[in-house]
Amino acid sequence: MDMNENKRRRSMLLYVLIAIIAYLAISQALGTNLTASRVTPVEYSQFVHMVEKNEVTQAESVYGNPEITFTTGEGDSQKLYTTVLWNGTEESTAQLLDDHGVTMVSEIQDTSSDLWLMLLVSYGLPILIFLGIGWWLNRRMKKAMGDDGPSMNFGGGGFGMGGGLGKSNAKEIKGEDTGVTFKDVAGQDEAKESLQEIVSFLKNPEKYNEIGARCPRGALLVGPPGTGKTLLAKAVAGEAGVTFFQIAGSAFVEMFVGRGAAKVRDLFKQANEKAPCIIFIDEIDAVGKRRDSSLSSNDEREQTLNQLLSEMDGFDNHKGIVVLAATNRPETLDQALLRPGRFDRRIPVELPDLAGREAILKIHADDVKMESGIDLGVVARSTPGASGADLANIINEAALRAVRFGRRRVTQEDLLESVDVVIAGEKKKSTVLSPHEKEVVSYHETGHAIVAAMQKGAAPVSKITIVPRTSGALGFTMQVEEDEHFLTTRQEAKDKIAVLCGGRAAEELIFNEMTTGASNDIEKATQLARAMVTQYGMSDRFGMVQLGQPASRYLGGGQQLTCSEGTAQEIDAEVQALVEEGHQTALRTLRENRFKLHEIAHYLQKKETITGDEFMNILTRDDGFAPKMPTPTE
Ligand code: ADP
Ligand code: MG
Ligand code: ZN
Repeated sequence: MDMNENKRRRSMLLYVLIAIIAYLAISQALGTNLTASRVTPVEYSQFVHMVEKNEVTQAESVYGNPEITFTTGEGDSQKLYTTVLWNGTEESTAQLLDDHGVTMVSEIQDTSSDLWLMLLVSYGLPILIFLGIGWWLNRRMKKAMGDDGPSMNFGGGGFGMGGGLGKSNAKEIKGEDTGVTFKDVAGQDEAKESLQEIVSFLKNPEKYNEIGARCPRGALLVGPPGTGKTLLAKAVAGEAGVTFFQIAGSAFVEMFVGRGAAKVRDLFKQANEKAPCIIFIDEIDAVGKRRDSSLSSNDEREQTLNQLLSEMDGFDNHKGIVVLAATNRPETLDQALLRPGRFDRRIPVELPDLAGREAILKIHADDVKMESGIDLGVVARSTPGASGADLANIINEAALRAVRFGRRRVTQEDLLESVDVVIAGEKKKSTVLSPHEKEVVSYHETGHAIVAAMQKGAAPVSKITIVPRTSGALGFTMQVEEDEHFLTTRQEAKDKIAVLCGGRAAEELIFNEMTTGASNDIEKATQLARAMVTQYGMSDRFGMVQLGQPASRYLGGGQQLTCSEGTAQEIDAEVQALVEEGHQTALRTLRENRFKLHEIAHYLQKKETITGDEFMNILTRDDGFAPKMPTPTE
C-alpha cells in the first residue's frame, strides 16, 4: 500500500496544481476586468492637472502606500481613479489637495458598496471556484475508488468536504446463476472432460476434504476467440449449481491508481461469502502479462497482478472456490501465474473440427425455426476454421435473412448465403482456407508427419490437423514423446531439424513451389541449430566452446553472442549447414515415400484432423509402398 499512497499523493498534487493555475488564470481575467471598468489609473501629472482644474472631489490614501485613489464628480457621475505619487511629493501633494478643497481620507471607508462587491469578487469568487474544483475532483475520485478504497484528502486534509462525499458509487461485482450447462457447449469434449472434476469438487467439497485431496484452485482456458471459453466457464458454474463471478482482466487495469488491487481483494472477499462459487477472469492477459525489467513497466498492472497472486495463495480452498481464467495469449502470461496452486491446469479450447462444427450448428439451430430436411453438414463442411461464435452468427444471419424475405422458417439457401456473409465479413478475423490452400497445408503437415515417422530419434506423431490455430499456424503435427526425457542427443536434435524441414520439403516436392507457411518451422529449426552450435557444443567446427548465452534465463527471449565478429560469421555458416542437412534429409525421405505422402495428404484434407494411429495405419499398410520403418531405439 505504500506505493499506492505515494502515487495517490503525487496525482493529488497534480490536481491541486491544476486548480491553482485555474485560480490564477481566472483571478487574472476578473482582476483586469474590474480595474478596467471601475478604477482608471492615471499619471501623477494628470492627477495634479485634474486637481488644479478642481475636478477632484475626494482622495484616499493608505498610510505608507504611495498610491492615491481619488474620485471626480458627485453621485451618479462619480468616477474612480488611481495614481502613484511622484517620489517625495507627499507633502506638496497634500498642500495642493488642501488648496483646492479636496476631501482627504487616509483610510478606506466602507461607504461604497462597490468596494465590497469588488473585494468579494476579486477574492471570494476564485476561492469558491478553487473549492468547487477540489470538491468535484474529490467526488470523482471517490466514485472511481469505491467504498473500500483508502479515503482521499487534498494536501493532508484541507478538502474533506463533508461526510456524504466519501460514499461509494462503484458498481458492485455481482454473482449470478448462469443457467448454462455442458449441454449448451458442443465440440469441446476434451475441455468438458477436464472441467468435470472441478464440477464435482464444487458440488461436493466435503467429499474431497474428507480424503484430504486438494482440488485445483485455478484453471486456465486457452484458445482462440469465440471458441466458447466464457461459455464453458459459465457451464461449469451451471453444472455445479454455484454462483458465478465474472470480471474482465481489463477492468482491473483501466481504473484509477491503486484501485485494481482493491478490486481484486473485493472480488475474493465476496466470493468467500458466497462459496462454493466460481470466479471467472476473462482475458486475463490484460493483468497477467509477464512482468519484465523494462523501464516502461506498468506499476498499476503489476500491483494488481501481485494482489491476484497473493489472493490465489491465500483463499480457503476447503470452501470450494475455483478460479477460472481465459486467454488467447497464454505465451504472454507471467510464469508466477502458472505455478502450482494457481492456474496450474491448462485446458485447451481449440477451434472445432468438422464434427464439432456440426454439433455447434445443431445447438444454435434448435433456437430458430427451420424448414424440415435442412442439412447442417453442408454448412459445417464449408466452414473450416470457423469458431463457435462464427457458427452461432451464421445461424443468426440466416434467421435474419429469412425475416428479410418475409419467410416464417429458415431455408437451406438462407444458411448457405449467410455462410458467405459471415465468412467474407470475418475473413480477416478467422482464417478460412481456400480449397487450394487447404491442399497445400495438408501436404505440408503430412510432410512433417512422414519425416517424423521415418526418423529414429523423432517422437511419434499423435495428431495431424489442418484446422487453423490462434498462433497463426494453418495446421500442425503434434508429436508426443513416449516418455519424459530431459536430455537431447545430437542425433535427436538433427532429426528434429529434419522434421521441421519436412513441411517445406513437401511443398517443394509436390507443388514445386514455396509458401510462407514454413516461416515458423524455419524459425524453430534455425534456433535449434544455432543453440546446437553456440550453447550445446555439438558442432564439429567449434566443439565444446560456449559462444552465446540466453538473454534471460527465466523470461526467455533471444540469445547473446559471446564471441568475436569473425567467429559470428563462422557460426552463421555452421548453422546454415546444419539446417540444410536437415532439409536434404527431409527431401530424401519424402521422395522415397511419395505415394504415402499423396495418400495421407488427401485423407487429411478430407478429415481435417487425424489421429496418430490413423496416420500410422495408412503409412505402414502393406500395399507395396509401405516404407521400411526404422528400428526403434532403446
Ligand atoms: P470466447 O470466450 O472463447 O471468446 P464465448 O464463450 O464468448 O467465446 O463464445 C461466444 C458465443 O459463441 C457463445 O455465447 C455461444 O453462443 C457461441 N459458441 C462458442 N463456442 C461454442 C460452442 N463450443 N458450443 C456452442 N456455442 C458456442
Ligand atoms: Mg470470452
Ligand atoms: Zn510446418
